[in-house]
Amino acid sequence: MATQRYEPELPRALSPQRLGWIRKRLLDWYAEHEQPFPWRNAKDPYAALVAAVCAQQTQMSRVLEIYDRWMSAFPTVQALAAASDADALRVWGRAGYPRRAIYLRRTARIVCGEYDGQLPKDRSMLETLPGVGPFTAAIVLNFGHGVDAAAVDTNITRVLGRVLFGDLQPVIETSERDIRWASERLLPDKQAARWNPALMDFGASICSPQPRCSLCPLTSLCVAYSEFKSGARASAVRAQRSFTGSQRELRGMIMSRLRGVEGSLSREEIMADVVSRAGIKRSRVMLAEQSLLEDGLIRRIDHKLILGSD
Ligand code: SF4
Repeated sequence: MATQRYEPELPRALSPQRLGWIRKRLLDWYAEHEQPFPWRNAKDPYAALVAAVCAQQTQMSRVLEIYDRWMSAFPTVQALAAASDADALRVWGRAGYPRRAIYLRRTARIVCGEYDGQLPKDRSMLETLPGVGPFTAAIVLNFGHGVDAAAVDTNITRVLGRVLFGDLQPVIETSERDIRWASERLLPDKQAARWNPALMDFGASICSPQPRCSLCPLTSLCVAYSEFKSGARASAVRAQRSFTGSQRELRGMIMSRLRGVEGSLSREEIMADVVSRAGIKRSRVMLAEQSLLEDGLIRRIDHKLILGSD
């Protein structure tokens, strides 16, 4: 039995002409505002992988610095596969969410061990690699292999949900299914390596959380425009939780001590140091230590802690 293709109900028809105008105006905008990130034109699947992993939960303004440091230390997938967890974590430094460094290194070992050092060209195979989800897989295909694949991130969701569905805060209001449909429907043939970054950059700088509609080339094509024009504001997605005193901060303090030494450090010394610096109970530091052990970011041998799991 033939499966029926999903077609959402749109507030305004997506005629071929309107579709063509949306694509053209966004690509024209991108031609003038393209951000010259090195991985976008490198045609290197490994560079695209590193960039996409660095970009997860990180503002683009910080991604370049982390990417440059990583690529200087591990310029090829083979160099990364030969590194230890501790090497990877030291280079990752204070970039946050250090599991990403471990995932990259594990992926490099799988790619070298099972795929002859070449990142797969197949989306579902890419998504079996550690830390590689649909967005990262699409970026590797677009920038690395020159293969069309629709990517979805927060910025792309915001643009598509506003232009096609008229939602003011699509991250909350538009269903994932509708965004996935829109990202595939709008993707122009053989232009994903320009189209996806165009949407990302446009969402970051023009169709931002509170959009700058006065600078937008899509006003006549966007369903949400009339509401923003009459003064509506997008609701806040969620308030950022304070970093100070959080488990993330305590984990970062423990990792920071261990990154500063080549071998092991006394567990007691680290505990006492973090307790006194953070001014909190020892039990909370022990919870942070336990979560790092469970994530494989550190290991404990007798009364000592060591960076990495190998
Ligand atoms: S008109 Fe406003 S809401 Fe619509 S795409 Fe442009 S910036 Fe975003």
